[in-house]
Amino acid sequence: MELPIDFKTRIKDILGSEMEAFENSLTSPSPVSVRINPLKNTDPIPVDERIDWCKSGKYLSQRPVFTLDPFFQAGAYYVQEASSMFLEQILEQILDLSQDIKILDLCAAPGGKSTHIASLINSKSLLISNEVIRSRVNILEQNIAKWGTQNVFITNNDPKDFSALKNYFDIIVIDAPCSGEGMFRKTPEAKEEWSMDNVNLCSSRQKRILGDVIDSLKPGGFLIYSTCTFNLEENENNIDWILENNPDFESIKINTNPNWNILENKITKEDKLLYSYRFYPHKLKGEGFFSACLRKKENENEFHSNYKSKPRQSNEAVQKKLIPLLNKWIKNPTEYSFLNHNNEVYALKNNQVDDFEKLKRILNIRHAGINMGKLMRDELLPAHFLALNPAISDDIQKIEVSLEQALLYMKREDFNAKNITIKGWALITYEGLNLGWIKILNNRINNYFPKEWRIRMAID
Ligand code: SAM
Repeated sequence: MELPIDFKTRIKDILGSEMEAFENSLTSPSPVSVRINPLKNTDPIPVDERIDWCKSGKYLSQRPVFTLDPFFQAGAYYVQEASSMFLEQILEQILDLSQDIKILDLCAAPGGKSTHIASLINSKSLLISNEVIRSRVNILEQNIAKWGTQNVFITNNDPKDFSALKNYFDIIVIDAPCSGEGMFRKTPEAKEEWSMDNVNLCSSRQKRILGDVIDSLKPGGFLIYSTCTFNLEENENNIDWILENNPDFESIKINTNPNWNILENKITKEDKLLYSYRFYPHKLKGEGFFSACLRKKENENEFHSNYKSKPRQSNEAVQKKLIPLLNKWIKNPTEYSFLNHNNEVYALKNNQVDDFEKLKRILNIRHAGINMGKLMRDELLPAHFLALNPAISDDIQKIEVSLEQALLYMKREDFNAKNITIKGWALITYEGLNLGWIKILNNRINNYFPKEWRIRMAID
């Protein structure tokens, strides 16, 4: 399909003489890129073309069938468009990530930015990964589980619900729903959905989202805004709108290497400067993307978290007599508090219990810390989340399988397990990476790979 005519006229105004190069770039295939998961201690991508602005980012020379790669299923890497990995530059330049921070990823599904943030913050920091659309929370949960995080809460809330959390976050990331002009190459359907009305609708929605959460940012904190679209209404104009309406905000310059070909758009307005960063497919190996960072000024002293490391007894605390049973399943259990939430047991870093107590009164928390599983008659039915988490105890029994067996296991089919002499819960591993649970009974093996995640495609 041709580019929508109104879009073409408008982007020509922005690009001028580069229009032809831009149009040509849309006819070449989209680059394929992944981000390696540092938590999984393995790098199964044998290529060397790095993404300049992201240490763990790599380009692939072709697109493999990711679904049929156990490393992908185990969360050893995340498939993500390269331009959006620029978030790493922003986070690393605006503050020292070894400090304990609270960060909100407001529009989080399917989890690209959240898994990236989780790899960059320290283990005592807290990431709230929120998705408003209920049906999209599942894919977010799946990706967070695969990533093996321990300090992420997943919430399912409308942005306006966060207005009750005044001055709470050190960083708010808003990767806003947008008209998707930057995705025309990768997702051609985006062209059909494009209209000027939709651009205007997206722009108003983005303002509403920004307005809803702005007060949740601490003085001295940072707001990172991004879209995958090119028009001014959804990008610079929204940044300008925040600055106009919130004099305590200032625009932040992010350093880029000129060789990266990221366009720094610097606008001077009265006495203010507005910096933003634009990614064009004819200039670099990535899709269209826009990003800008703002800082809420004043009160330097208030910045950086108010963590109290003293663990607090929660009213959802697991009964004391069950704690030894839970301790057996994870490494360093004294670092965690066990809580009952939505009929499951979660292990929370001790310093995050206070946050959980506060947030659960305001937000719909779908997941917190490590989902351990369900307690049934004083036994733990371990969660898939736990199986994929590096915090799992080294004492859990394991069964290493071949590639074919791994795929059959993840299809929930008979995976030809032979000569198994152990009994009870065991992890299925592929090249040392945990894929999920089985339970070995006297006369059969029960496969606990989640039904809703099972591989549906043919494996031959
Ligand atoms: N940050 C994600 C990532 O990196 O994988 C991609 C986010 S996508 C660009 C925008 C998200 O905003 C979608 O998950 C969408 O469901 C959500 N969304 C849609 N309408 C919204 C609204 N009114 N308020 C907040 N989020 C919304």
